[in-house]
Amino acid sequence: MPTLEEARRLILEHTHTLGTESVELIDSLSLVLAENLAAPCDLPLCDNSAMDGFAVRRVDCAPPARLRITGFIPAGSLSMAQVDSGCAVKIMTGARIPPGCDAVIPFEQTEGRDDYVTIKAPIRENQHIRFAGEDVLRGEVIIPAGTVIRAPEISMMASYGMSRVTVFRRPRVAILSTGDELVELGEPFLPGKIVDSNGVSLAALVKACGAVVEQLGIAKDTRASHVAKMTIGLQADILITSAGVSVGERDLVRDVLAELGMVQVFYSIDARPGGPTTFGVKDGRLVFCLPGNPVASMIVFDELVKPAILKAMGYKRIFQPFIRAVLQENVSKKVGRVKFLRVRLEPSGDGFLAFSSGDQTTGKLKTLLRADGIAVLPAERSSFSAGDEVNVHVISNNSVMLSL
Ligand code: AMP
Ligand code: MG
Repeated sequence: MPTLEEARRLILEHTHTLGTESVELIDSLSLVLAENLAAPCDLPLCDNSAMDGFAVRRVDCAPPARLRITGFIPAGSLSMAQVDSGCAVKIMTGARIPPGCDAVIPFEQTEGRDDYVTIKAPIRENQHIRFAGEDVLRGEVIIPAGTVIRAPEISMMASYGMSRVTVFRRPRVAILSTGDELVELGEPFLPGKIVDSNGVSLAALVKACGAVVEQLGIAKDTRASHVAKMTIGLQADILITSAGVSVGERDLVRDVLAELGMVQVFYSIDARPGGPTTFGVKDGRLVFCLPGNPVASMIVFDELVKPAILKAMGYKRIFQPFIRAVLQENVSKKVGRVKFLRVRLEPSGDGFLAFSSGDQTTGKLKTLLRADGIAVLPAERSSFSAGDEVNVHVISNNSVMLSL
């Protein structure tokens, strides 16, 4: 049985970054750029004004100089009118600096508006001019391949008029729930039945990673139903199943996947909740069999599945960073096994305090709702005491946080 670390390593060893595709710029958010982008021209493209004011020749401007206003250059104007000695041109922010001018005087530092303007303050050479190429020079690599595209990258690409971008494609992730006790979301449920919440929560987590979700619904506890659904699921880049992975009489998941050609890489991990997690591969596709318990399946998703999805998408930073927090209670655990403790965090001084967020039984979903993070208690320790420092993975709004 692999440790959590070994399980992670085995998964990543089998995970490869997918191919590339061209997408609309707006759809590239959170995807990874697949090619170096070099600047096709300087940015800004020409010298332009950083203020609303007057474009002038500095030599004319010793206060209290009085300059004749000979024109107006609004933003976007293509005017190249010359500004003669002793003259000024009214100019708006972003408008091109006319030839001969070497400073802009903001309106606030002038008097008079109609035909003449009086300069009230001394001016510096080149003041309030943004020069061509001062942000980016033509040919410079503005965004290297491998960069995760965020709003600033989108802004830069848009500034260059790039309407499409080549990125590593989103993995298609199929999600399959298994078990006769399950009913679809929206169907009535009676005692003895439970709603397939994993199908929805896992889909939400996959979506938050930026991958494409394919919801396969529920496989009944029969071989035929498993075969039918899993055959479809194995067409995706990644198949995630939940439940039916223990050693119960009706736990068919691993047997049927093996029949369909999945090579099992490991069965079960040294961590709780999440023990029976299984991982396998088929023709380069990844298969994660998560436990049925909702708490276990969501925690294992964040700890093991998400890094693989991010790697497939071309991310370099695929691990969630830990924050250190001071545990506020005693916790006992089994030696040789990682314990995922659901904790509430409170800021204190320049750090955090970690409180148990409630009953830690795997079946208690409410304890996960009340948690701000998962303290990952390492295998080698048998107990933790109040006052011990622990490593915590913070749960963000979409439960997928910044990865390092
Ligand atoms: P199993 O792994 O099949 O032993 O299931 C463990 C627990 O998880 C049982 O209490 C199941 O009812 C529950 N469970 C299994 N599948 C789901 C699902 N898709 N949504 C919510 N709970 C589930
Ligand atoms: Mg079951």
